[in-house]
Amino acid sequence: MIARVQPLTTTRRLSGPFDYALPEAGVEVGSIVRVPFGHQKLDGVVVGLADTSEVADEKLVTPTSVREDTVPADLVGLALWMADEYCSTPARALSLVLPPPGRPRTELWAARTEAPLEDERLTGNQRALLASLPRAAAPDTGALRRLEARGLAAIAPRSRRRAPLTHPPADRAVEITPGQRAALDALRGGGAFLLHGVTGSGKTEVYLRAAGAALERGQGVIVLVPEIALTPQTVGRFQARFGDTVALLHSALGEGERYDEWRRLRTGDARIAIGPRSAVFAPVRELGLIVVDEEHDPSYKHEGDPRYDARRVAARRIADAAQAGPGSPAAAPPLLLAGSATPRPETWAALPRLTLPERVAGRPLPPVDVLDMRGAGHPLHPVTRRALSEARKAILLLNRRGWSNFLTCRTCGKVWECPQCDVALVLHRADNVLACHHCGHRERVPERCDACGSPSVARYGAGTERLEAELAEALDVPVFRLDADTSAGKDAVPELLARFAAAPAGLLIGTQMVAKGHDFPDVTLGVVVDADSTLRFPDFRAEERTFALIAQLAGRAGRGPRGGRVLVQTTSPEAAAIVAAARHDTPGFVAGELERRRALDYPPFADLIRVVCTAEEPAPARAAAGAIAEPAAAARGAAVLGPAPLFRLRGRYRWQVVVKAHDRAAAIAAVRDAVDRAANEKANRAVAFSVDVDPQ
Ligand code: ADP
Ligand code: ZN
Ligand code: ZN
Repeated sequence: MIARVQPLTTTRRLSGPFDYALPEAGVEVGSIVRVPFGHQKLDGVVVGLADTSEVADEKLVTPTSVREDTVPADLVGLALWMADEYCSTPARALSLVLPPPGRPRTELWAARTEAPLEDERLTGNQRALLASLPRAAAPDTGALRRLEARGLAAIAPRSRRRAPLTHPPADRAVEITPGQRAALDALRGGGAFLLHGVTGSGKTEVYLRAAGAALERGQGVIVLVPEIALTPQTVGRFQARFGDTVALLHSALGEGERYDEWRRLRTGDARIAIGPRSAVFAPVRELGLIVVDEEHDPSYKHEGDPRYDARRVAARRIADAAQAGPGSPAAAPPLLLAGSATPRPETWAALPRLTLPERVAGRPLPPVDVLDMRGAGHPLHPVTRRALSEARKAILLLNRRGWSNFLTCRTCGKVWECPQCDVALVLHRADNVLACHHCGHRERVPERCDACGSPSVARYGAGTERLEAELAEALDVPVFRLDADTSAGKDAVPELLARFAAAPAGLLIGTQMVAKGHDFPDVTLGVVVDADSTLRFPDFRAEERTFALIAQLAGRAGRGPRGGRVLVQTTSPEAAAIVAAARHDTPGFVAGELERRRALDYPPFADLIRVVCTAEEPAPARAAAGAIAEPAAAARGAAVLGPAPLFRLRGRYRWQVVVKAHDRAAAIAAVRDAVDRAANEKANRAVAFSVDVDPQ
């Protein structure tokens, strides 16, 4: 037998797998081996076993070691699919499904044996020690060893879990609503569904019951959430209901914790994995259900290579599991359940839909007033100011960090821009710096214009920092700010959210982070300060984003018995996304948006593939983009936009090509070939290529 091994290197040039002789320890698909490779040694993953090899027997080498932990075979298949689907490499895709580094922590554990104690001569201390068993041997290992020698105790190593610290709330047993019951009934036969439920309609209870049903049938569950720090309530509810069978997977865990959580899933000690997008690779056994909560959230798209979309990968995993068939007689067909109050048009069009049209307990959705800001002289409308001063607890969304948008010279018109990227710098007053939000460049705030010497430097627009300062002064409730500048520490976000939740009165102000799924029943006012900020993005998703942001923020208000209201400030009060969000009209918005997408030939009516070529000089980047555009345009059913220049980023010039594909597989294959060929050409040595299938 031969092991086919894919070495884990980052280069695009090497295309395995390569054949190796079977080591004595034996391997299976998913084994991680160390193999001699040229003059070096590399880690590799066994992706297949074969009877024969084209390599002559005497030339076949043997792996030097085999890791104890293995990748489940279904995840090896998933990774190889991903490598193709996202124009990446098998090695890069496999690196996403590897076990985290580490090994189990063991400790010595002491227990009593069957031996009777009556006839033994024991001191009082020894009797007390024996009575305290079973327990960890430390710090009495010496004394216990002596008792072990007499056959009275048994000491053996056993693994000890490093558990993440969490504070789950008490589980609340609720009577299920007829709507929730109907949704659950529809899910019984497996498949893929969209659960469209307005904010506060009790989607989480549906997830919990679907998960409970899967566990009862002996099947495992994955729950994907946008971001652990922003969704402590969802995570807490799963832990409250299912206890230790829930494993948490996310990047803020310590290395030992992460390893242990992975291992508990791999061995079957834990049956439910919960985490952000990378948890879609959790080694859950007999997968029966994947929940994608807040399926519209952009964080499900991975920004590194391979640029996978966890929602698509989840669908593939469920389809694979369905194909593999039930692992036990009780198992039901696997189920993908994507839920949101503001689903993506793609999901709406693709999946059968289950609806929870009302909030639990008949609470109404809050009325939304659109405030016209054309010609306004102050960042806050008078109606907003009055409402803020009257509200005890409110949330305010301003999707712009920092103090002001940009800085310009009143005399000569100079705008302060990032030297690395062609974008305006943003003023951050607390640090007295101008910062680039793309590359992190920072410089001191100028006292006068360095182009003309004028001391008259003006700031335009308001960011979260400035609004926080103004409102802290104007209001007599505490102001809490939540944005990327205030959430640096590991626990900063959950702590801030907990403080806001506990405060009898307060204003939570921040970027889109404040609009995620928080459930604060005493918030009565929601404000969107500049609803146009997302609408102005030059991106076909601008409408969808704006709608989701406003509707989600509105979903945070009026969850309790006191009700609530929402104010939306905008200079485009007639924009479709804003009008629909003000009416809580998801079906209306999606229908209009799908029409627009059909007319413009955007997803879901075409698939997009974006290739970005970057270089230190503009010409090679542009030439490389041209070399991709031409063969891509020849693919069946493909139309190409570009090459078009993008703004310079981190000192590199960027040109992009966008492929609109009507035959997804053909277009992906054509782009993959074109990029592989271009990347191997001498002229493009200084060019970096990045391929993004289904860009966000
Ligand atoms: P969603 O996820 O749809 O926004 P949640 O799951 O957060 O909604 O539910 C909103 C609130 O309603 C939560 O406090 C939840 O505990 C409560 N809830 C959910 N289902 C029920 C039910 N069947 N009966 C009573 N309360 C419920
Ligand atoms: Zn000037
Ligand atoms: Zn920059």
